[in-house]
This record gives sequence, structure tokens and C-alpha cells, in this order.
Amino acid sequence: MSERLFLHAAQVITCAGAPRARRGAELREAGVERGAAVLVRGDRIAAVGPQEVILRGAPDAEIVDCGGRVLMPGLVDSHTHAIFGKPRYEEQEMRAAGHDYMAIAAAGGGIHSSVRDVRQRSEDELVALALPRLRRLASHGTTTLEVKSGYGLSLDDELKMLRTIRRLSALLPMRLVPTFLGAHEIPQEARARTEGRREYVDVIVRQMIPAVASEGLASFADVFCEPGVFTVDETREILTAARQAGLGLKLHADELRPGGGAELAAELGAVSADHLAAISESGIRALAGASTVATLLPGTMLFLGKTRQAPARELVEAGAAIALASDFNPGTSPTPNFPLVLTLGVSQLHLSVAEVVVAATVNGAAALGLAGEVGQLAPGFSADLALFDIEDVREIPYWYGDRRCHRSWVRGNEVHH
Ligand SMILES: [Zn+2]
Repeated sequence: MSERLFLHAAQVITCAGAPRARRGAELREAGVERGAAVLVRGDRIAAVGPQEVILRGAPDAEIVDCGGRVLMPGLVDSHTHAIFGKPRYEEQEMRAAGHDYMAIAAAGGGIHSSVRDVRQRSEDELVALALPRLRRLASHGTTTLEVKSGYGLSLDDELKMLRTIRRLSALLPMRLVPTFLGAHEIPQEARARTEGRREYVDVIVRQMIPAVASEGLASFADVFCEPGVFTVDETREILTAARQAGLGLKLHADELRPGGGAELAAELGAVSADHLAAISESGIRALAGASTVATLLPGTMLFLGKTRQAPARELVEAGAAIALASDFNPGTSPTPNFPLVLTLGVSQLHLSVAEVVVAATVNGAAALGLAGEVGQLAPGFSADLALFDIEDVREIPYWYGDRRCHRSWVRGNEVHH
């Protein structure tokens, strides 16, 4: 089996430890090693340790010279809406002029506008639009990417989006994790009628979830649980059906107003509760006592022009596991730059560098049920690595907005150079 030896890194950031979400003091341990080498055998990490020792044990390995840069686990972005048609730049100026997100949505913009657009496009078109966008995400060091459906909102269009993700998985070396988000919004045609809302929940539960599960098109089901979108009761009904169909559970929870979403995520044992900028005290307590990862998306609040951010420090101090993600999407977070989100984690969420690094690797992996597979440079883990053109890991959030990823690998295969 082919062996590759990564030598001469200024720092190797291992994030090594238990294969599960980190909490509390564990979040402050990113595993910064100097003079370390990483041996990759086939698609796996075989060894991490002092350079001389590893070199002696693998004399014939192909050498990858890290050139005094920082080598770390590839970044795990556990929340994106990366499949879409046209961008929605016009809404940015509307928000600047004082129209808020919910008002734009009520006027047929926002998610509805992406839905009308995606419904008109073929799977081939969606694949062609997504490929260069996903390559851009990869060029910033992202190696694992969760991708949601949710701009179809009809059986056929949701399946089209999930099949698009499956095709992209075969075309790109990045690791894609598909999530079914038929409950992203109540479609406009259903909102227009009194019974429409109830009927749409029935379509999700009786048609979409069984079809998605039988084709094996998604690992998770997700619901936008928010006052004005799906209620806590509707969310519980949809996610209970999803769990019975064998899907893992995620929630968009408490983004703009507290609505009991975090509490529901904990109750259902969801793998993650995402957004949480408006989480309540009882929501914080619920996540602290649950396996559910609190996934924070500070880029979204920044781009929406909000001054409030999720209470990251309170979540950490309470004992919750936090992850960071980009929320890459055409309306509220069009950045492909995941390291920029780590900058926001430090400057807006008041996290330490080690905390944002662990939140974007180990805990991102845990938010996708992949904590035993990616997110660490440790023996047995997938050979998913990113090499950054910096000498100290603290430079990742420091050079904000810059692209410092030099090369990356997934399962030992080069993704970006
Ligand atoms: Zn989202």
C-alpha cells in the first residue's frame, strides 16, 4: 500500500483524543505538536509522532515536504446549503435599506426565490453550477461538507437536489454528507391556502421521507424550526418520521427568536441544533445535558447585519459541545471561506483559537456522526489533511478573509493544490 510521509511542518495540529464531541476544558486542547511528522498509508493516517521516529519506520515512503507550514485535519463544515441556482445579491441592498429577512421572505424573496429558481433547473445544471462553488470551498481547507436540499420543496425537486449531491460526491474528492431539508420552508403555493400547511407536512412525512430513505439519498433530515416557519410540534412530527425511516436528525433552531428548538433537539437526541443566536436559558441547559452538538454560524449573523450572536461562551461554560460551520448559502451566508468563520468565532463569539479549531474539526465531525472517521490527525482516521501557509495555528483566524490553504487531501487523495 502506498505510504506518504508529511515532513517539515512548523506545527502539526492533531486534535487527537476521544472520537466524540469535545466539551469544556477539552475544547481548549487542539494538540499543537512541533517537530512532528504524519505517516499516511493508503487512505488512512498510520502514525503521528516525532519526525526521526516516524521516518525510521517508513524509509520508503513518498515524502511530502510541508515547507515550514501548519498541517492540520481538513476542516469539517457541518452546515451548508451549497446547491443552488442564482445568487441573491439584490437582497443584501434591501436589508441595508432596512427590509428585514422575514419581511423579504414574506414578499416572496429569500428562500422562496431560490425555490422558484431551483425548480426550473435540471440536475445537470445544478451539478454544473455547484462544481466550481464546491471547489472554491475546498480551496479554503474544507475537506468534509454537509450539503442540504431544501430549495425544491416538492417531492420531485427535493429528490433532484439530493441526486445532485450524490452526483457531486462521485465527481469531487471532497467528502459530502447529504441532508434532506424538505422542511426548509412552507412552499408559497401551500402558504396560499388554509389547509396548505397541514398538507405540506403530510407530503414531507408520507411521501418525501419514505422516498429519500428508500433511495438512500440522505444521512440526515433537518427542519427549520422557527416561529413563522415550522412549529415545535410540526418539527417533532417530521423528525420522528425521519428517525423511524432510519435518518439521523438535525434542526435549524432558535435562529432569530427563541422557540423551543434547542430543547426539542435535545429531547429527540438530534445530532446537532444549529444557529441558536436566540437560544433561551432553558435551551442552553438542555444542550449542555444532551449529546446534541450546538452548531454556531456566526457568518450568517454578520452577513445579515445583526449585532447579536449565539451565546457561545455561555454554551461552553454550561458544558455544551459547540461546532462552527459556514452555512454557505445564496441568501444569508455566501462565503466559501470557512477559516473566516473561525475568525468570527474568536472576534465575535469570544472563543479561543484552540476552541475554534476543535469546533471546526472534531466537533464538526461529531455534528455529522463522523467523529470516529474525520477531524483528527491520529492513527486509524481518514487521511483528510489541510496544509496552511502559516507558521502558527493562531494565524488562521488572524489573517482574516485571506486564503492561506496551500494544499489539502481527502482519503489520501489531493483535493486542492
Ligand atoms: Zn441553514
